[in-house]
Amino acid sequence: MKCTRCRAAAEVHLRQHNSAFCRTCFVFYFQRQVERAIDKERMFTRDEAVLVAVSGGKDSLALWDVLITLGHQTTGLHLSLGIGDYSDQSTAKTVAFAQARGLPLITVPLADDGLAVPEIARLTRRPACSACGTMKRHYFDRLAIDRGFPVVATGHNLDDEAARLLGNVLHWQMEHLTRQRPVLEPTHDRFVRKVKPLFRCSEYEAAVYAFFRGIDYIVDECPNAAGATQLLYKDMLNRLEAASPGSKLTFVQEFLHKAQPALTPATVAPPQTCERCGMPSYAALCGFCRLVRETDAKRERRQAAGRA
Ligand code: AMP
Ligand code: ZN
Repeated sequence: MKCTRCRAAAEVHLRQHNSAFCRTCFVFYFQRQVERAIDKERMFTRDEAVLVAVSGGKDSLALWDVLITLGHQTTGLHLSLGIGDYSDQSTAKTVAFAQARGLPLITVPLADDGLAVPEIARLTRRPACSACGTMKRHYFDRLAIDRGFPVVATGHNLDDEAARLLGNVLHWQMEHLTRQRPVLEPTHDRFVRKVKPLFRCSEYEAAVYAFFRGIDYIVDECPNAAGATQLLYKDMLNRLEAASPGSKLTFVQEFLHKAQPALTPATVAPPQTCERCGMPSYAALCGFCRLVRETDAKRERRQAAGRA
């Protein structure tokens, strides 16, 4: 097979786009896809400093690599979640990537604040993924606002968005459906814009890009993700994609173009301000502060019981 762009021998075949690329042209194609998404969806301009949430996985590192290549001003934000060896390796890969390229990186070791994800999940008896999600949302928002970044970019890819859409549709989560967008504008003065520049790039494309660019990323999935519903949805969508290439892209794209404009956004009152941390909240305390309070209370009770 020949490269669609330059007719050299192709190394990647993208059935959903009916095209094939050699190594150089694939890298160019991937970067163009991301650039187009940023421009078309008005995610950010070259004058805006972007906080890139990097996990050490292929998607967020590929995203960071593309943003630098495109000449954007970026700073990485990495949360070291305290999930054993998995988190240590993720942090090491992220730090190595930033150091090798001389990029600014903010690393937050949650365990230092007594907030390692497994411990919080155990003490509060919540699913680890739910505690983890609360932490990520809080730290992304707080660091962005505290350090003056107008926008946070994450590495969510097409497979993530298609799986999330399938989950939202299966349960007809109307409020979630109105908010499932590649760009979310802030609804509070301590929220910033959230963007997903890889929303049209498949997981496979991100992996190929990372490989061609020699990016060393953590290959392992988070140990907590095993058996997660999201993986079941991804598996189903992959089977659909194999039988009918382009299904994932059509599902997400046509939802955004056709279905979402027909949904009436729920008239939710804008968030108030959390009385403990000052971040946006729908109750007196935000989800993060409720989690921290509960963790502290449980920890104190255990210590008191230990002393008795
Ligand atoms: P996930 O929720 O693990 O699928 O990750 C989705 C996106 O969230 C990634 O592409 C990153 O942009 C961001 N992210 C996930 N984990 C972390 C982390 N530990 N630190 C910073 N950003 C993260
Ligand atoms: Zn709070």
